[in-house]
Formats: sequence, structure tokens, C-alpha cells
Amino acid sequence: MTIYNFSAGPAVLPKEVLQQAQVEMTDWHGSGMSVMEMSHRGKEYMGIQAQAETDLRELMGISANYKVLFVQGGASQQFAAIPMNLLRGKTTADYLNTGEWSKKAIGEAKKFATINVVATGADKNFSYIPAFDSWKRDANAAYLHYTPNETIGGVEFNWVPDTGGVPLVADMSSCILSRPVDVSKFGLIYAGAQKNIGPAGLTIVIVREDLIGEVLPGTPTMMDYKTHAENDSMYNTPPTYGIYIAGLVFQWLKKNGGIAAMEKVNIAKAKMLYDAIDASNGFYSCPTAQSDRSRMNVPFTLKDANMDGDFVKQADARGLLQLKGHRSVGGMRASIYNAMPLAGVQALVDFMKEFAK
Ligand code: PMP
Repeated sequence: MTIYNFSAGPAVLPKEVLQQAQVEMTDWHGSGMSVMEMSHRGKEYMGIQAQAETDLRELMGISANYKVLFVQGGASQQFAAIPMNLLRGKTTADYLNTGEWSKKAIGEAKKFATINVVATGADKNFSYIPAFDSWKRDANAAYLHYTPNETIGGVEFNWVPDTGGVPLVADMSSCILSRPVDVSKFGLIYAGAQKNIGPAGLTIVIVREDLIGEVLPGTPTMMDYKTHAENDSMYNTPPTYGIYIAGLVFQWLKKNGGIAAMEKVNIAKAKMLYDAIDASNGFYSCPTAQSDRSRMNVPFTLKDANMDGDFVKQADARGLLQLKGHRSVGGMRASIYNAMPLAGVQALVDFMKEFAK
């Protein structure tokens, strides 16, 4: 039976990448050892990491005035690292609240600064993205933070806010590499790896150089972007195996036409699933506003929540795994990241139609 894994993260990885890692597991390129056994300061591993960075730069079009940092601590650690590094003498920052992950970022930032919430989707249970002209921005904010894709609520931006001179900071944990982005519009982009990049344990930070170097007093060395920027992410031992797998994923993306090609497939997958939900005569419904529906995380409910258990059980039996919704919202959630093939979404849609019948 073919298994399709719809987990929100850690999530499905490209089969080809796992197979290559399997082949190279005990003897990487004739080195006689696994990547996870190599010294991070050895020639072989340093080559792997440098190549991963080069490939990511190429895929995303990251220019030389941005640093790419490979760090640990998850996206959650960045919720604190961002104010510590980016306040740079200021005391206030702008945050947009579009749901669970925005809220977490706001909660942590409040420990370090006065947070101005520019707008919130709370009035409609975070089912939409507040229009830009309703945002109450502070011209003096150190930066503006937002979550382009809310992994739990399933709302996603299909536009980039224009914040003028205020650096734009984006938590791209669940949408990075899924569509082209103009990196030059951002001061900082960050993402936990465990959705579109690789295994958990690696976090990627892409930060404009001029924003580095003026941290809050007391900032730990490991949370200062300068530490990682000046040491090529090798101040201490980096998560070497995670970076190696991420590098394989970057090569897989390049081989398959890069991010623009990925986006086309992602649009087709999302359309197939949302169309099936919308055409179900209310048997399935999706709580999110049409214009702001996520291409990566598709939450939906069944007409009768008493059938949820049955739905999950029957889906499981067909190899359609991890469809149960997040504990805070209930219902179902299908995460359809880059590595989910169109055939997986087709199999899910076929099952949904049959189950409804
Ligand atoms: N931000 C978003 C948008 C996420 O989806 C997640 C994880 N699901 C996080 C932050 C937290 O990431 P981590 O578990 O890597 O700290």
C-alpha cells in the first residue's frame, strides 16, 4: 500500500531524498563514515554545509547582503531572538496577529519590548487576513513581524506587506520554498526545518546584514546573530545531519525545476482539495476565507463531528495518515507540503468523496 503522510510537521520528505540518504548512510561518498559521524570542522562536512547554503541562496535568490544562518532551538527560539537582535535601541515593535503562531511570537516578544498589534483576525476566529489598509502601524517600530502561513488556522498571505523603511520579519516555517518570494523585501526570514526543508532540529534564519550587531544587553552568545554570522554557523557544533538532509532537499528542488515549478504543483494540489471540499454540498467545510486559504495546510470539518473518528480510521486504513486536526481546532487538517505528490492529494480526494457517499 502507498502511504501518504499529511502531518503538519515533522512532515513528509521527498522519497528520493530518503533513498539517497539511505544509500549514503554508512559511507558518505567513500569517506568510510556517515555524515553524522564526521567532524563539523572537517573538509567533507564543511563542503556539505557550504553547498547547502549555496543551493538555498540560488533557490531563493538570496543576495550577498543577507546572511544565511543554520541554528537550533526551533522557530520558537526565534520568537525571542528576533526582539533581542532587531530592537537595536528601539523599544517598540509591530506584530500582526493572524492566529496561533502569531500569538506565540507576540507573547514572547512582549518580554523584551512594547508590542503594537497592528491588526488581528480574532473577530472572525482567525479565519482571514486583515486588509493592509486596516493595519495600525507605528512609524517608529523597530520592525514588523507577521506569519505568512498559519500552520494551524490554515490562512496564508498571497501578498507581501509593504512596510516602507520598517524591516519586515516573516515566520515562514510552514511556507518557505513553496512559492517564490522576493527576499529583498524582507529584513529577516526564519523557518523551522521540519516542514519544507528537512528534519526537526535545524532552523534557518535569513537576515539582512545591516540588522546584525546591536543586541539587547544580556543577550546570550548563542542567540546573537553576529555569533553565527561571523562563524559561518560553526561557532559551536551545528546540527550536521539535519543540514545534510536539508542540502539533499535543496538539490531535489533544483532538479525538479526550483521553487517556481514547486509553486505550480502546490497550486494544483490545493485547488484539487479545496474544490473537493467546496463541492461536497456541506458534507465537508473549510473555515477559512476563500482569498486567504493556505496552499500548505488545509483545515476542514465534517458536517457531523461524531464521524471524525470514523473518517480518521478509514483514512488510516487506506494509508492516508495524520489527518486529525490540531487539538486546538478539531476536525481534520491535511498538510500538503512540497514533498506531498499530486497523487497523494488525489488519493485523499477520492477517499473523501467515497466517505461522504
Ligand atoms: N511557527 C510556525 C508557523 C509553525 O508552524 C511552527 C511549528 N509548527 C512554529 C513556529 C514553531 O516551530 P518549532 O517547533 O520549530 O519551534
